[in-house]
Amino acid sequence: MSILVVGSVAFDSVETPFGEVDEVLGGSGTYFSTSASFFSDVSLVAVVGEDFPQEHVEFLKSRNIDLTGLQVAPGKTFRWKGRYGYDLNEAHTLDTQLNVFESFAPQLPSGFEDAEYVFLANIDPELQLQVLQQVRRPKLVACDTMNFWIEGKREALVKTLRHVDTLLINEGEVRQLADEPNLVKAARSILDLGPKNLVVKRGEYGVIMFTEHSTFAAPAFPLEAVFDPTGAGDTFAGGFMGYLASTQNVSEASVRQAIVFGSVMASFAVEDFSLNRMKTLEYKEIEERFRKVKLLTEFDGLE
Ligand code: AMP
Repeated sequence: MSILVVGSVAFDSVETPFGEVDEVLGGSGTYFSTSASFFSDVSLVAVVGEDFPQEHVEFLKSRNIDLTGLQVAPGKTFRWKGRYGYDLNEAHTLDTQLNVFESFAPQLPSGFEDAEYVFLANIDPELQLQVLQQVRRPKLVACDTMNFWIEGKREALVKTLRHVDTLLINEGEVRQLADEPNLVKAARSILDLGPKNLVVKRGEYGVIMFTEHSTFAAPAFPLEAVFDPTGAGDTFAGGFMGYLASTQNVSEASVRQAIVFGSVMASFAVEDFSLNRMKTLEYKEIEERFRKVKLLTEFDGLE
């Protein structure tokens, strides 16, 4: 079953304590769709400029990603520049150039309006809403965002959130969006904005999900070598949505498994720069790591 995603396709320039790369393939839509493609069919709606190389298009096609909704517009591709210190959980944005995204009006190709699984990857919340308005009756709408939009487009974001089932954001963004330092209270107030599930990404500390009636926590897979956390969040979301779409089951038990698949995918993404690790990843490695995460949290109850 197919997933529809709208998000950025980008050139990223990234510095971490372990190295740096300049203008490599990145973007929230790119990371998401690549990750989801290990589980399900994905259709990507985005825009790139005339400077976007065929080599990157070929990579996305090699992952079987439907690119009918990828527009090529006059101008330059979106660019993002970021730096990470030894605390790899926090990205410091150095520069954001929207370029072709400034005049982008997402238009769903015919057939896409029946998508059952929709992911609004990190992008201008006004564009997220425009996509949502073109979709008929989705089974699950999930959404990501970041400080850039919480600060710059809060009103549009709150409007989008009314139509979202699952919001996936990082811990700092939860506090910023709710304007509340306590995570549990912040989560409650975000659930009041519309989403039924709030999935809080906590980098190397894992994920915690809040719903009205339950809380679920999953650890991140402990890694010895983390090179570049860029795209971890989108790759998480790709595994999460990809798994749900492949099972056609959005029960809480299935959502919990999807969270672990998301964490597993993110753990691979951070092992190398850009999407390099995704290029060699095989499905059997994903399953193997899923089993290891399960063992991480197994313990006996009280007698
Ligand atoms: P994350 O998964 O949160 O690490 O997302 C990283 C990706 O988000 C990078 O590949 C960037 O190209 C992309 N990105 C950064 N800022 C923005 C923005 N303001 N809008 C859309 N995408 C962005």
